[in-house]
Amino acid sequence: MTAPLLPGEASLGVMGGGQLGRMFVHAAQSLGFRTVVLDPDADSPAGLIAHQHIRADYLDAVALGELARQCQAITTEFENVPAQALQQLAQTRVVAPAAAAVAICQDRAAEKAHFAASAVACAPYAVIASEADLLAVSDDLLPGILKTATMGYDGKGQVRVRSRSELVDAWAQLKQVRCVLEQMLPLALEISVISARNAQGEIVQFPVQQNLHIDGVLAVTQVPAPGVSAELQAQALAAAARIAESMQYVGVLCVEFFVLQDGRLIVNEMAPRPHNSGHYTMNACDLSQFDLQVRAMAGLPLTQPRLHSPTVMLNLLGDLWFSPTATDVERTPAWDQVLALPGTHLHLYGKASARPGRKMGHLNITAATSEQAESSARQAAALLGLASDW
Ligand code: ATP
Ligand code: MG
Repeated sequence: MTAPLLPGEASLGVMGGGQLGRMFVHAAQSLGFRTVVLDPDADSPAGLIAHQHIRADYLDAVALGELARQCQAITTEFENVPAQALQQLAQTRVVAPAAAAVAICQDRAAEKAHFAASAVACAPYAVIASEADLLAVSDDLLPGILKTATMGYDGKGQVRVRSRSELVDAWAQLKQVRCVLEQMLPLALEISVISARNAQGEIVQFPVQQNLHIDGVLAVTQVPAPGVSAELQAQALAAAARIAESMQYVGVLCVEFFVLQDGRLIVNEMAPRPHNSGHYTMNACDLSQFDLQVRAMAGLPLTQPRLHSPTVMLNLLGDLWFSPTATDVERTPAWDQVLALPGTHLHLYGKASARPGRKMGHLNITAATSEQAESSARQAAALLGLASDW
């Protein structure tokens, strides 16, 4: 067991310079760590604020060598970072999460096999890698959702299919890459759990969060989860812990679940990093998911985070920067009015330009009670023109 990396002494690196990398850098810097970001984009949100930005491709061996020379531990902010890059870094440095864990999360088929090995139920599914697999699909899986095995996010790389002929068309549409077909389940609601585990095997978890997706993208997170019983919450926390333990995971792990209309808990997928649904922790808990990411990779103690305020998180997509009537004119949302509401915490990611669908920031609304948080959140949503039918 290596000694913990101490604040004020060590340097921490992150592969990827998007908003998750940026919030990681903020948390690491507040503890006094030096930070280095590797990202090809000159304007990356994390690269702009890190002590150093190595601007290079993720597979650039020289750049990876430089990252390893400068940092004692390295993490990643997105699951599609090439496994090869993490393996090179791991030859000389702590890499958390490890390449093997990231590889499981990169591939829906491997992920589902891991859920089964952790005794957590997922949707009935089949892997489709050939015409023969396509023909062999059981009728039980229809209607279903065809998802590319790798590289999907925010509902991209997914097609809903009702019949065999639609399935054939959908697989052609997805360029006949390896896919999984999942049975379409009758969802009551969606939740997720964020866990952090360090190399010493300590594990801590945030309370269950309830998530609303609109058009395949997370729109609203509520904590405490209003629609989930204490028993089901305990079940979700235990399942997420098993999933982390059974791959000896080190870092922050988000596990997404469905709650079905009959009350059953089904695991959907996982992300080997902090997650959009955990952004509420920045203002509602005494430690955020990014604080725990820093502690976990540095081998520092993990203490149980405490939710001190009921909260609602609203995702802020680039659409807000355009008027619904004049979609070609960019404008700044009325932040002054939003910030006049009690308990509002605005987080903007410093992206140079807005585009519809682009994640630009999020708004955490905290209050003494869930009712108050919800009421302020609905007012904020109305001011911003966001959906408030949750
Ligand atoms: P993200 O990366 O944003 O979490 P993703 O592109 O990886 O999303 P999934 O989480 O697999 O996609 O699916 C997106 C959404 O589609 C889910 O949150 C859920 O609302 C719906 N969905 C996915 N699979 C099923 C299923 N088997 N039955 C019913 N609904 C589903
Ligand atoms: Mg998802």
